[in-house]
Amino acid sequence: MRIIDVHNHLYPKEWLDYLEKHSKTLAVRKKDDKILIYFKGTRLATIEKKGHIDPEARLQDMDEKKIDVQIISLSTPSVELAPKRDGIPWAKRLNDYFATLCQRSKGRFQFYAVLPLQDIPASIKELERAKTDLGAKGIIMFSNVCGKPIYFQEFYPIYEAASSLNLPILIHPGPPITSTVLKKVMMPVPLFGFVMDTTIAVTGLIYFGIFDRFPDLKIIHPHLGGVFPYLVGRINDAYKAYGKDYRFCLKKEPSQYYRENVYVDSISFHTPSLLCAIEFMGTDRVLFGTDYAHPIGGIDKAIKSVRALNLKEEEKEKIFSENAKRLFKI
Ligand SMILES: [Zn+2]
Repeated sequence: MRIIDVHNHLYPKEWLDYLEKHSKTLAVRKKDDKILIYFKGTRLATIEKKGHIDPEARLQDMDEKKIDVQIISLSTPSVELAPKRDGIPWAKRLNDYFATLCQRSKGRFQFYAVLPLQDIPASIKELERAKTDLGAKGIIMFSNVCGKPIYFQEFYPIYEAASSLNLPILIHPGPPITSTVLKKVMMPVPLFGFVMDTTIAVTGLIYFGIFDRFPDLKIIHPHLGGVFPYLVGRINDAYKAYGKDYRFCLKKEPSQYYRENVYVDSISFHTPSLLCAIEFMGTDRVLFGTDYAHPIGGIDKAIKSVRALNLKEEEKEKIFSENAKRLFKI
C-alpha cells in the first residue's frame, strides 16, 4: 500500500542560521544534542532528529519506514515572523530551496509554499510563482499572523488566489495566541496551544463566512482537526445561540462547511480519536500525516494508528494515499 505523508517538516539549515544570527524576537539555542527555538521567550520548536534538517537523513528514514512520498513544509517559526524586509526574500529563498529539493527527489518530495504574510500583495505574487514556476502542491499558512486572526478581511485575497489556483492551504500552528496564558499556567505550548489555535482559526474561517465567499477553497486542518471533530455539536449550537449577536450570517450549518471544505490529517496517534473524526467526516476527508520530525510525531505511531482502524483495506488506502493523490493531484 502506497503511503503519502501530507504533514511533516524540514528546517533548511540556512533558515536556522538566519534565525540564530539576525532575529530579535526569535531565539535559537543549542542544548545537548537539541536545537530549541523560542519566540518572545516561549519555546516553540525542538529539533532533535537529523532528518529535521538534512534531506538525505530524511530519505533514509522514509525508506526504512516505507513512506513513498512526503509533502514537505517549513514548520513554525515561518517567514511572517521575520521583519517585512527579510520576510519577502526569505519566502522566495525557501520556496526555491524546497522546489529544487523536490525536483532532485524523483517524486519522493512535494512541497507546500510559505508566504510572506506580513505583505499581502507580495504573498499573492509568491503564491502564483510557487504554483506556476515552482510546482508547489499547496500553501502552508499559520494559525495566526503575529497575533492577528487569519479570518480577518485583509487575508481574503490569499483565499481568493488559493481557491482560483486550486492550491489547498495547510493551516499549521504558529506561536499560539494563548502563549502568555500557557506560560502563566506553566504548560508546554505544544500541549494545548497548537491544537486550540488551529481550531480557533478554522472555526473563524467558517463563522466569518470565508467558505460562503470562496466555496472552492480547500483547507487542511492538521492534528486530526484540533478539537473540532470532538466539539462539533457545540460549534453548531454556539452558532445558533450567539450567531446573530455576533453578526455571523452563514448559508449552512458550521459543520457542513467543515465536511465540504476541510480535510483533516490522521495525526493524533490514538485510534479511538481517529474513529470519532471518521464518523463525523467520512474516510474521504482524512489524510495521512506524521508531523515528522517533531518530538510529538513519528512515522511508526502514525502508521500503526491507521492500520489499527476497524475499516476495510480500501478505506485505509484512501487515508494512506488515495485522498492525497486526489487532493494534490499527484
Ligand atoms: Zn506540524
